[in-house]
Amino acid sequence: MSTPINPAPKTDQQNEARHSWSVRVAVVSGIPIRLHFTFLLLLAFIAISGYGGTGLVQAGFLIAVFFCVVLHELGHSLVAQRLGYGVRDIVLYPIGGVASIEETPRARHELLIAVAGPLVNVVIVGLLATYMQFFTGETAIERISGLIRGGGIASAGTHYLTMLLYSNIMLVVFNMIPAFPMDGGRVLRAALALKIGRVRATQIAAGIGQVVAVLLALTGFGVWGNPQNYFLVIIALFVYFAAGQERAAEQSRDVMSDAPISDAMMREYHTLAHGDTLKHAADVLLLGSQQDFPVVAGGDIVGMLSRSQLLRGLAREGDSAYVASFMDREVVFATPGEPLQDYLLSSHALRRAPVLIRETPESAVVGMVTLENAMEFLTLRQIARLRDDKDNGDFNGTRSDSGEKLV
Ligand SMILES: [Zn+2]
Repeated sequence: MSTPINPAPKTDQQNEARHSWSVRVAVVSGIPIRLHFTFLLLLAFIAISGYGGTGLVQAGFLIAVFFCVVLHELGHSLVAQRLGYGVRDIVLYPIGGVASIEETPRARHELLIAVAGPLVNVVIVGLLATYMQFFTGETAIERISGLIRGGGIASAGTHYLTMLLYSNIMLVVFNMIPAFPMDGGRVLRAALALKIGRVRATQIAAGIGQVVAVLLALTGFGVWGNPQNYFLVIIALFVYFAAGQERAAEQSRDVMSDAPISDAMMREYHTLAHGDTLKHAADVLLLGSQQDFPVVAGGDIVGMLSRSQLLRGLAREGDSAYVASFMDREVVFATPGEPLQDYLLSSHALRRAPVLIRETPESAVVGMVTLENAMEFLTLRQIARLRDDKDNGDFNGTRSDSGEKLV
């Protein structure tokens, strides 16, 4: 018997594979919070290098800052959850945190989700400033201007408290820059999308993001006569590529929108019987360009044998072993009218294995969609779109679903 499973299977194994470079440190409201290994390296580096003998204090301070970053990401995530969107995870990198939301929110929702992050830091600033006023008798503004001037005598505790306050203010300022991938860019995109559609809005917000990135990089290199700061250059690179990525993702989302999965399916393909030997399977593999083979038993499709599974089987047990021992038993089925994008977006079914198409669980399979097929189809569709656009350059804001990352 074949087992139809959810269009977006997320087994633990898959999740682990996707996150092999990060470790989970906590789960809040069902959202895993992960530390990327580069972040752990940074912490270790600071703790060991012992920067003026206070390495551990510095590392502790950094942890406090990143705790505020986590709260910022949770701000985005919890509002997203409240509005009905799934949140995949929060990952911390040395230059900040990223919350991955499973779908692209509607413009009005995107606005609320984007604002929620910086708002958390505003609240933290308010709490820290109140605390400081109460326990040191100094206002936050006095302490921060002391910090910036490099003067001011403060105890180590007050010093780090001021730094933390200052970091949170910078988090708000930096994130509200109206450019992708910052939160301000999302606010701008959402506002523009209501008027000129998502694709154009994204292009504008991403374009501003790349201009900001160039300015940041120049500042980092010290071209205005300011001290050099290579950390800024790294952030600039991140901003530049993230903005470009967002633009590309929006374009492919647009191309994908409203295409049914059956548009990308092939009707002719080879199948294997579950009692076939790997030798037979290898012969079929050599016949043509097909890389994945549905495996049939008693008229039902019971599995899928990929090229890599076939090769692994041949290496382990030789060519007299059976197809059934090495095939994947989790087969994903779709009905012809389902949206292609539900299967194609990152971490969804097609990224892992081909999808088979049939009308109902009882009816015969009418076709198969592979990742390569789907990509070919989208390329052709994009070319057709570009030609159409020359004629009437207007397509209104399309609503589509995809993975969304919030910084
Ligand atoms: Zn944010």
